[in-house]
Amino acid sequence: MRIPNCSVCAVLDSGCIPKRYMFVCRLQISIAVMAPNQYYPGRCELWCTAHATELFQLSFRQRQRFSEDLAILAKAIQQVCTPKKINYELLGNTVPHLHWHVIPRYNWDPLPKRPIWENKSYQESARRACMEPSERQRMTISIRDSLRTLIPYRAL
Ligand SMILES: [Zn+2]
Repeated sequence: MRIPNCSVCAVLDSGCIPKRYMFVCRLQISIAVMAPNQYYPGRCELWCTAHATELFQLSFRQRQRFSEDLAILAKAIQQVCTPKKINYELLGNTVPHLHWHVIPRYNWDPLPKRPIWENKSYQESARRACMEPSERQRMTISIRDSLRTLIPYRAL
C-alpha cells in the first residue's frame, strides 16, 4: 500500500527514479538503487515497495522478503566491490518510508568504527558524485548482474 504525501511512495507510483539515483534492480518487495554519493563505492539504498515507517508494520511475509532482498543486495555489493565490511542502516528520520542504507566500508575508511554520517570527508563530498558517471554505470550493471545470480526466485 502506498500513501499520499510520502516522497518514496510518489517515486514508486511514478515509476521514475530521481536522476541522482541509479536504478539497480527490482526485488521481491523492494527496489535497489545506487545512492547519489559514491564516496563509499557501491553504496546503495533499498526502498520497500510497500509503505511503512517501521519494520513491525510489515506483515511477517513482507519482513521475510525485505530481509532477503537486503541480504542478497549486500552479497552482490560484496562480490562486486569487495569491501572489508558492509553496514546496514534503517533510519527514516528524514524520509519516513522504510529504506535501508547499504554501505560498503573499506580499509581506507578514516573512521572505521563510526557511522559514515560522522565522517567529515563524506559530509563534504555530499554534493559531489564522487565517481565518474561511466564508472557508476559500470558498477550499477555489475551489482545488477551479481544480484541476478543470487536471486533464488524469478526477479520481477
Ligand atoms: Zn511511502
